[in-house]
Amino acid sequence: MDIPLKVLEQGLFSTSGNFYIDAWKPVPICIVTHGHGDHAYWGHNLYIGSPETIKIIQHRLGKDVSCQVLDYHQKIKLGNCWVSLHPAGHILGSSQVRIEDSKSVTVISGDYKRGIDPTCKPFEVVECDIFVTESTFALPIYQWPKDDIIEKQIYDWWQENANNDHPSILFCYSLGKSQRVLGLLNKHTDKTVHLHGAVYSLSKLYKEMGVEMIPFLPVSESAKGSLFNKDLIIAPPSAIGAPWMKRFPSCRTACASGWMEVRGTRRRKALDQGFVLSDHADWADLIRTIDETKARIILTTHGNSAVLAQYLTEEKGLDARELKGLEANNNEEEED
Ligand SMILES: [Zn+2]
Ligand SMILES: [Zn+2]
Repeated sequence: MDIPLKVLEQGLFSTSGNFYIDAWKPVPICIVTHGHGDHAYWGHNLYIGSPETIKIIQHRLGKDVSCQVLDYHQKIKLGNCWVSLHPAGHILGSSQVRIEDSKSVTVISGDYKRGIDPTCKPFEVVECDIFVTESTFALPIYQWPKDDIIEKQIYDWWQENANNDHPSILFCYSLGKSQRVLGLLNKHTDKTVHLHGAVYSLSKLYKEMGVEMIPFLPVSESAKGSLFNKDLIIAPPSAIGAPWMKRFPSCRTACASGWMEVRGTRRRKALDQGFVLSDHADWADLIRTIDETKARIILTTHGNSAVLAQYLTEEKGLDARELKGLEANNNEEEED
């Protein structure tokens, strides 16, 4: 079976559709799977994405970028193929791209997860012949705990600190993870959470798009001298050790990330706590998802793509290969 994809200098290219997916250099037509910086780059003539992804792109890159909205499941003709988007469960608006030409159906997953996330539509299994899968956490050591355990742990950590008059600062990626935490905490409390500016502007955008979350306010709107000593504060990892933290002298700190499971040791040294909460599929969910798509050809990309391709070939008898050339240009946001 021919593979109707190529990695060109600008990014991943659909040879039958004559468009790019998540290109990192300016191209005429780019389908963007989601709004993270390593997928939505500046400079394309036309951005195509889900309504929410387009809103995030306009927020990040400016209102005057040329965009075309494509609802989930709506089909458009590009080149010689029909193209549609399907929920990827990664962050709000995140999409898999389904490309159907006369010979085959190809699905490009983008980043995805199977875990609970009240801020976006759950991952949809799309059967296909060729499946391009991310492999950020494609090692058997990556096994996520159940989401409801983690959210309870975060809530309990916050309450324990509050009982001892310590502010709790939780470091999360500003797009996606922060809002997921705000959404997950919604069922435990209706107390207001305070947000770093970078997290606030994106959370406000999520709220405008109708996502339900616990109430929040920017830290900057609290009166000077506020102690925050019963409060939860969410900030991006870039704020770790920054002067911004001087405002919270007796704070307790934690980070919510998939890397906390194994690779967190270095970062953990500077933090009091680590919560394993990832917006990517763990090993078992990657394998399960690949099985469910019934694809015969699997192309692996990002992270541990060689390990995953080898496992699928040797243990599952699939035609699995690394899709080389994407890694160098796509620094996964989780690595920050
Ligand atoms: Zn992402
Ligand atoms: Zn990514």
